[in-house]
Amino acid sequence: MEAASHWETIRKSAPDGDAANLADYEKACADFDWRNAGAELTGLPGGGLNIAHEAVGRHVADGRGERLALRWLGKDASAQDFTYADLDRLSNRFAGVLRRHGVPAGARVFCLLGRVPALYLAALGTWKAGCVFSPLFSAFGPEPVRARMEIGEAAVLVTNEAFYRRKVMAWRDALPSLRLVLLAGGLSADAPPGITDLDAALAEAEDAFDIARTRPADVALIHFTSGTTGRPKGAVHVHQAVVAHHATGKLVLDLRPQEVFWCTADPGWVTGTSYGIIAPLTIGAAMIVDESEFEAERWYRILEEQRVTVWYTAPTAIRMMMKVGTEVVRKYDTSALRLMASVGEPLNPEAVVWGLEAFGKPFHDNWWQTETGGIMIANFPAMDIKPGSMGRPVPGVLAGIVRREGDVVTELSEPMAVGELALRPGWPSMFRGYLHEDERYRKCFAGGWYLTGDLAMRDADGYYWFVGRADDVIKSAGHLIGPFEVESALMEHPAVAEAGVIGVPDPVAGEAVKAFVALKRGFAPSEQLRRDILGQARKRLGRAVAPRDLDFRADLPRTRSGKIMRRLLKARELGLPEGDLSTLEGEPS
Ligand code: ATP
Ligand code: MG
Repeated sequence: MEAASHWETIRKSAPDGDAANLADYEKACADFDWRNAGAELTGLPGGGLNIAHEAVGRHVADGRGERLALRWLGKDASAQDFTYADLDRLSNRFAGVLRRHGVPAGARVFCLLGRVPALYLAALGTWKAGCVFSPLFSAFGPEPVRARMEIGEAAVLVTNEAFYRRKVMAWRDALPSLRLVLLAGGLSADAPPGITDLDAALAEAEDAFDIARTRPADVALIHFTSGTTGRPKGAVHVHQAVVAHHATGKLVLDLRPQEVFWCTADPGWVTGTSYGIIAPLTIGAAMIVDESEFEAERWYRILEEQRVTVWYTAPTAIRMMMKVGTEVVRKYDTSALRLMASVGEPLNPEAVVWGLEAFGKPFHDNWWQTETGGIMIANFPAMDIKPGSMGRPVPGVLAGIVRREGDVVTELSEPMAVGELALRPGWPSMFRGYLHEDERYRKCFAGGWYLTGDLAMRDADGYYWFVGRADDVIKSAGHLIGPFEVESALMEHPAVAEAGVIGVPDPVAGEAVKAFVALKRGFAPSEQLRRDILGQARKRLGRAVAPRDLDFRADLPRTRSGKIMRRLLKARELGLPEGDLSTLEGEPS
């Protein structure tokens, strides 16, 4: 398999001599030691480590309390600013509410809220109380909410009255572990019974709180995976993860205290917590939170008005912006932006380069998973970008391309060999288990490696190239075909906005490649266009790899976190069971 090498390398955006946090990749790797990575984190006075102390308490103690920590932009043009001192004080109050209700350390606090300030106070306050935070995506319907809270043995739920009525009330009594329901945002005159008014409880609570003496290995977070490949898993993370969030926030996102940082991910997914709460706060930056959903012009206005300097978003949003075109973005002044990064799905080279056209800067792709807790492979500002590559391992992360046969794992060292992407365990944000799925957790490890379930290649310069999820890879006439390569080629056609590729049974080749394509604005499906796209793909990829067949779709099925669900394209195409759809976008909620 070959890399998308016809794309020109983009020269590094942090030129030599620039004061990027990581100025020289090789040197940074050679010097790196996880034991020093948390040197700026102070730990709790008297011993222990707590994410909330590193995120807010430490800054206040060091006299930085008056700096802006969070600017919240409401759906209705309202805005609210919180300094570090505000977040510290208000999260103390939240922790006080938990303690007053007798919620013990280690109890699981679930949160079902949109991107509203209460969510951020709840996260920080939960950690301060020594409890475990588990965010749920607010668009989940009753069943996904119930299932996750049951798996997680929720003790507390933080939500609002509307969500509580619609998504929780009907089954609440069937979850005996749930002892406290806190409703944010005020209550109606006929509020349901058995709930606590969070705003009123916060108003009565004290500004001061004696933070729980958590240890590095104490559980802090439960994150459910996106459910792209099947039923979501509950990944367990510990307080020590903050060391990796802090270090990667600095090295990969190049965050500094003076930053205006916007991570567009919802905290219901791991990105929105690791980099939408923890990393920017531990660094002392100002973070922007937008309550609204994606809307291209709204986003460009935010970049302009807030003078965002570092922006962390996802391929699905970038593709939606590409659909709208570059004329719109050019109406806005986005010149404060100095770094744009992307995660969550493979970032097509076309999208990297589109960044240059639209913003004058490329998108920097990086790779990680719910399980890894933080960024593992990245395009750093001080490194040239090869469009379509995920970049190189974060300093302190040892990656390899391996083949696994039973318990035997062989490292494939020749350049561009396709194998499973594997990591040597030992970084601080490594997950510590899947809830109630010990066997599945154990199976992720063999031969001293953590096996990621993704297939990739490494080129001679040490850059990693995503091939596909192990489950999505297509085997056709003896070739291993990665959907990403085919989708990227399809996206080079001017009419194509999005593409998803699957393998369908073929009597001769075993599997044949079938493509599903959504068109850009201004293009309509036709037989002529279908042939044209297939013809161009064949020219780019050759007959053996190019799709044999292509269907147009208005939209591709996606998880709520924006990932194309190839397993669903396939199930629907072949009339197979559709499996767990709890994270499918557009399902009734
Ligand atoms: P599930 O494990 O439930 O199927 P998921 O794997 O989509 O869901 P996440 O942990 O949110 O859940 O996503 C991590 C996965 O997303 C990675 O394993 C990889 O397949 C994909 N991914 C993330 N970032 C990138 C990237 N930059 N390039 C390619 N793939 C990526
Ligand atoms: Mg996964």
